Amino acid sequence: MLLEVEGLCVNYGHIEAIRDISFGVPEGTITTLIGANGAGKTTTLKTLSGLRKVRAGTVKFEGRDITSIPPYERVEMGISQSPEGRGIFPGMTVTENLDMGAYVRRDRKSTAYEQDLERVFTLFPRLAERRQQVAGTMSGGEQQMLAIGRALMARPRLVLLDEPSMGLAPKLIQQIFDIITEINQQGTTVLLVEQNAAQSLKRAHTAHILETGQIVRSGTGAELAGDEAVKAAYLGGDV
Ligand code: ATP
Repeated sequence: MLLEVEGLCVNYGHIEAIRDISFGVPEGTITTLIGANGAGKTTTLKTLSGLRKVRAGTVKFEGRDITSIPPYERVEMGISQSPEGRGIFPGMTVTENLDMGAYVRRDRKSTAYEQDLERVFTLFPRLAERRQQVAGTMSGGEQQMLAIGRALMARPRLVLLDEPSMGLAPKLIQQIFDIITEINQQGTTVLLVEQNAAQSLKRAHTAHILETGQIVRSGTGAELAGDEAVKAAYLGGDV
């Protein structure tokens, strides 16, 4: 397992946002956590990034206990996140935003850095066309592409994607999921958090359903997509 979460509990004051969840992210896979609004998906990702403290439980990355280490060290180890709501720097250009994603790297302006920049521009030709555009003036879809591209600039082993399809038009949603599949096929492990259960289950090797802070079902993406109860609750009766 690239990432192992064991007995994780996270609170906001007295509110138990996450209650005793355990799951793994196998290397090379797309693993997805799906669930409704408020199920605890964002809290889980923030905890894995080190932005929220755990009340109990452990997080291991490549076998090493990272439960208490700060966010920037996790980025250095190979975990980077594309946050919910994108969180781009609106006053900066596309290229400057991508450069911010690489801030922990010691090899900036090297060939490897340039290759990673090219990788992002190949995955997202729209960003290549808009290199010098101020990010805040771009469309929601372009900003989402930028947030994912920025996360990739840290050269992660594991990329955490928080609701990348949120607020996008159907055609663009399809495109974003195609790109996530491509990123994975290029060798990056993906933990994908989504409300779009149909697309996520279709793309994921492993899936977990989160309800009010607990994992209530796990299986392969295909298993859960074919399950009657999952279909009724999350897929509107069809896939
Ligand atoms: P969404 O899709 O709306 O982002 P989510 O599955 O990501 O939902 P979380 O945002 O992780 O869910 O929220 C989990 C629970 O924690 C919810 O009950 C929510 O109300 C609560 N919560 C989240 N953030 C805070 C906060 N800053 N303070 C207090 N409670 C919070």
